Amino acid sequence: MDRQDCIFCKIARGDMPASIVYQDAEVVVFKDIHPSAPIHYLIIPRIHLDSAAEAEEQHAPLLGKLIVTAAKIAHAEGFATFDYRLVTNIGRDGGQSVFHLHWHLMAGRRMTWPSG
Ligand code: AMP
Repeated sequence: MDRQDCIFCKIARGDMPASIVYQDAEVVVFKDIHPSAPIHYLIIPRIHLDSAAEAEEQHAPLLGKLIVTAAKIAHAEGFATFDYRLVTNIGRDGGQSVFHLHWHLMAGRRMTWPSG
């Protein structure tokens, strides 16, 4: 369910400090420690999955909730009206550096694509 050595599990448990934006029984949202946009949040499930590549049928409601949570935050904070980026990296070659599934919610500047 959760991993002792995983920094995002530690944040979800409250064992490591983070700037929490939102949390409930299943999801935690906190500010990225090295933001690459004026708004840069990380949206994680409390349960440990290494990445979205581990998703199974049973996870579908939870994974959907992560995206709904992003939309709710974007509307609540008002940046849904000027667009944002929601992205998840998978594996080292996919740009992933922390191996606990997370969505990056980024806003506040014009994004470029491809992301590199
Ligand atoms: P990724 O490279 O897609 O795995 O994204 C991992 C993100 O986690 C990076 O943007 C890091 O800046 C961020 N990060 C790493 N450690 C922490 C931490 N302790 N608190 C908040 N964000 C973190």
